[in-house]
Amino acid sequence: MTDAGVPRAGEVEAVPEADAAEIVEELAEETERHPGSTPRLLIALDIDGTVLLEDETLSPGVVEAVEHARRAGHEVMLATGRSWASTRGVVRVLEIEPDYVVCSNGTVILKKIEGDEVRYEQVHTETFDATEVVTLLREHLPDAKYMVELEDGSRLYTEELDDWNLLGARRVAFEELTREPVCRVVVVSPDHAEGDFVDLVAQVGLNEVSYAIGWTAWLDIAPPGIDKSTALEMVRDWLGFDPHDVLVIGDGRNDVGMFAWALENGGRAIAMAQGPQEVLDAAGEITSSVHEGGVAAILRAL
Ligand SMILES: [Mg+2]
Repeated sequence: MTDAGVPRAGEVEAVPEADAAEIVEELAEETERHPGSTPRLLIALDIDGTVLLEDETLSPGVVEAVEHARRAGHEVMLATGRSWASTRGVVRVLEIEPDYVVCSNGTVILKKIEGDEVRYEQVHTETFDATEVVTLLREHLPDAKYMVELEDGSRLYTEELDDWNLLGARRVAFEELTREPVCRVVVVSPDHAEGDFVDLVAQVGLNEVSYAIGWTAWLDIAPPGIDKSTALEMVRDWLGFDPHDVLVIGDGRNDVGMFAWALENGGRAIAMAQGPQEVLDAAGEITSSVHEGGVAAILRAL
């Protein structure tokens, strides 16, 4: 038997007790000045295409990797286009209890309330009058189906659609959709492909509102100037993280804003490999696809 695999022991020097105390103190100060190579990070994960596959099953290894990141001291939260109603279950499946959750592409922020049972309360909401934009869209997409989310989280829709979870939502006439200010508008036009939406947005001149095009060709419209990054900046500030101690992962056009936010501040922005080219271009790094466990690969390496 050889000792080839055993590392060489370092030199050991005996010092008097008083000196030892001094050395320990110096080391402690040094450590505070130069904390470990990875400081405590605020990690924001997109859900669809990042944590979950298209069939809503989990990306390989993600639950274990999230737990690994949390044990390493990082705050792992979600920043999603989903409304809270369809985000809640994902928080549970990931076995996390983040201090905040960003929903509806940054228009809604929920805060954890500790008690006998942990619950979440909506602490910030952005709304806008969507009458003009919806009327404009209807002129171009007469057959489209619409859904809006109101300030209190309730939802109104014009026509049913298989993909939508309409539990608790109320069907209304088109004119009634935007009678109250809304947090978001979701537009689905089954006859149109993703590229058609990109063209339409330019054509209609939707530059006054924030929008994202989802992977099943829906258009998701948020109040002007609002996206995941605006909400994450508030959360970062509330939690006291340094601007560069952020790491975000996403796969879609609605993640581009938070990528820019993270990178501008010296943080990390990571795209899932299956995302569209413009999303990959906007990121600072690319990980493997959601099917291959791209989130787990990043979190495991922290
Ligand atoms: Mg996504």
